[in-house]
Amino acid sequence: MKVTFPYMGTVVIYKKLLELLGHEVIVPPRPSQKTLDLGVKHSPEFACFPFKTIMGSYIEACEMGAEAIVTSGGHGPCRAGFYSEVHQRELLQLGYEVDFIVFDSIYRDKDRFLQQVKKLKGNQSWLKVMKSIFFTYQMVREIDKLEMKLQKIRPYEVKQGETTKVWQKIEKVFDKVMIKQELKAVVRQGYEWLDAIERAEVSPMEQIKIGIVGEIFVVMESSINMEIEKVMGELGCEVERSHYLSEWVKDNMLPSLFKNSHEEEILKKGEPYIEINIGGHAKQTVGQIIDFKERGYDGIIHLMPFGCLPELISQSITPKLSKEYDIPILTLSLDEQTGQANNRTRLEAFIDLIKNKKIRQYSA
Ligand code: SF4
Repeated sequence: MKVTFPYMGTVVIYKKLLELLGHEVIVPPRPSQKTLDLGVKHSPEFACFPFKTIMGSYIEACEMGAEAIVTSGGHGPCRAGFYSEVHQRELLQLGYEVDFIVFDSIYRDKDRFLQQVKKLKGNQSWLKVMKSIFFTYQMVREIDKLEMKLQKIRPYEVKQGETTKVWQKIEKVFDKVMIKQELKAVVRQGYEWLDAIERAEVSPMEQIKIGIVGEIFVVMESSINMEIEKVMGELGCEVERSHYLSEWVKDNMLPSLFKNSHEEEILKKGEPYIEINIGGHAKQTVGQIIDFKERGYDGIIHLMPFGCLPELISQSITPKLSKEYDIPILTLSLDEQTGQANNRTRLEAFIDLIKNKKIRQYSA
């Protein structure tokens, strides 16, 4: 079966899992202006930005011959739960008869989850399926750890752009990995490449740590968030995201044996501000802001897709959080018309504000 998936973050991982399960994988092109134009044209006007981007990606993948789409579901009062049905209908109207294999959290409906795995597993044995899942989970954990390390190196690189080049090399070698021994070797190689990057000495006062929070798709997909991590790194800031794929897999797909309570801790921190589940990642956004502050971060960038109701609510809480926790928060609303130059100016001004705050703190 020729399968595809929504383009989000480190796509080499989804590709690997589907390949290990014996499928021919159609990797959609990285979202571009063409993707956005297609998505906007074929989506309801009121749909949120991720819906439109994914719509465009699906059309591109269908043009490349995809027969099935593997995606995640959603629940709660946000639209993600309807994504697959609306996308499927729209694709059908365009003449693409594709199957949808939708994974919701295993904790919501185990039977449905297993049904979807069965659809995907084809003739593979359950043992092979389990091995493939755990292998790709190990892969995603390692690649996330490497990425986290990289985000702490980029602001101090002497040769601008070197860290990004190393990351591209790391993604390439991960793409070739098929067995555990190879994984170990590429992880070792990845750390060696990262350690070899020449870095400038920077005093603690000049080091700036930024947490990036918000809706999962815009936080994880660099092509639609103006490559915020790269931009912030090149402007001299260490960054960490609120969402990493390994965390999502652990919280939604693995048996509770493999979980720790970090997600629950984050939700607890958000609880005083958003008591009930309002969908999306609004509650996590609030909890993550508090968590970043407690871990010594200097500022927060809150990414909000245009048309996202849950993040609109968390945005309305950020001024209060900023005041109560004494942490600067910059919200950026993203859509297909987001201007890079304008937002870069805002980011630079935000960094200046944090720098001045730090100077005042150190000289007090
Ligand atoms: S969380 Fe927001 S952006 Fe994501 S699917 Fe729901 S409404 Fe859309």
